Amino acid sequence: MDKKTPPKVGIISLGCPKALVDSERILTKLGAEGYAVSESYEGADVVLVNTCGFIDSAREESLEAIQEAMAENGRVIVTGCLGIDEGAIREVAPGVLSVTGPHQYEQVVEAVHDAVPPLHDPYVDLIGPEGMKLTPRHYSYLKISEGCNHSCKFCIIPDIRGPLASRPAGDVLREAERLVESGVKELLVISQDTSAYGLDLNYAESDWCGNAIKTDMYNLANALGNLGAWVRLHYVYPYPHVDNVIELMADGKILPYLDIPFQHASPGVLKSMARPAHAEKVLERIEKWRAICPDIAIRSTFIVGYPGETEDDFETLLDFLEDAQLDRVGCFQYENIDGAKANALPGHVDPEDKLSRWERFMELSQDISERKLMDRIGSTLDVLIDDVDETGAVGRCYADSPEIDGNVYLENATGLQPGDLVKATIIKSGAYDLWGELK
Ligand code: SF4
Repeated sequence: MDKKTPPKVGIISLGCPKALVDSERILTKLGAEGYAVSESYEGADVVLVNTCGFIDSAREESLEAIQEAMAENGRVIVTGCLGIDEGAIREVAPGVLSVTGPHQYEQVVEAVHDAVPPLHDPYVDLIGPEGMKLTPRHYSYLKISEGCNHSCKFCIIPDIRGPLASRPAGDVLREAERLVESGVKELLVISQDTSAYGLDLNYAESDWCGNAIKTDMYNLANALGNLGAWVRLHYVYPYPHVDNVIELMADGKILPYLDIPFQHASPGVLKSMARPAHAEKVLERIEKWRAICPDIAIRSTFIVGYPGETEDDFETLLDFLEDAQLDRVGCFQYENIDGAKANALPGHVDPEDKLSRWERFMELSQDISERKLMDRIGSTLDVLIDDVDETGAVGRCYADSPEIDGNVYLENATGLQPGDLVKATIIKSGAYDLWGELK
């Protein structure tokens, strides 16, 4: 590397959107110091692997990524959730330069400095106000808090990431405003528990545009809704105060989209999982939300084959699914996670039963999705364009979060660019996706 060439950092970012935001923060800091991002192993002076340690398969994927980076480049810095198990990392890759856990931004940046010092050049130090992003330019994740105060038995996030720590609403809004000013059209609000936002700060007020704003989900969502971008809420739990936010959706302030991880429907399983709000009457709540905001798209995730789940419990879950008619559904087969309390529960479900329950669940949820999407034929939807090629464009409507939900395909559409917001009439539907024509 000569004195004028900016040092290059390769990055492999694994895991959930929250980990992606961590990677972006690290890259933003490095970018401000003049580092560039390398798209390849060969071009990188050092490779950063941001790992996930949530379930066994994610650990495996992280360990494989570290080994690959070592083989291809040889100068590797590891961070993220798996970083708390340095022994496992050093066992497969003893030569990694440094290992840190989640949110240790400063230590990661220091490790990069040690591996490849920054250039001191005021011109390369300049960086756009949106920071460095790993998502396309037109949408961005907005992390509003870290950690979680719950102790769901299948989860080790509170052990890894600590208790709830919310960012003051004014700080979140200033970041969101910068993002929108730099071209972001959709803000994806993420946390471990969005409904609990601000609880740890006693909902303290902070400054936003010369006024005091309370740090809670409603006030944040309301203020975000004034910025002129789509606002999508993820990881909301069905506490009573969620109803106020549904009103913001009905008023068109934020997208009528609610990602609410129910995980199961059998009261016994939910209790054994120690889920927050497990005693809420969920079907009644969903009915109420649909009465307030008829267009609302509800997304949820579920676990099948949790220890102790009986065939009756599973049938209760299928009945719930049929009654709730959720728009978007994800389902995982239960897996032990190192350190999780659920590992010690009795009644672990046979892997074949887990698989067959997962298949039955997916079949029903696909039927529901197909029926609901068919109802959209003939309607007109706003579509945010994600990608364009010679065959047309692909985008998403309010019911589609990137990566996890469906798409809207606009075949033969021309003259569009990623980030454009267009109106489309829906002409065809599939199990998860829609096809439309520009209006
Ligand atoms: S609410 Fe439960 S599943 Fe979600 S992060 Fe907290 S402990 Fe984990």
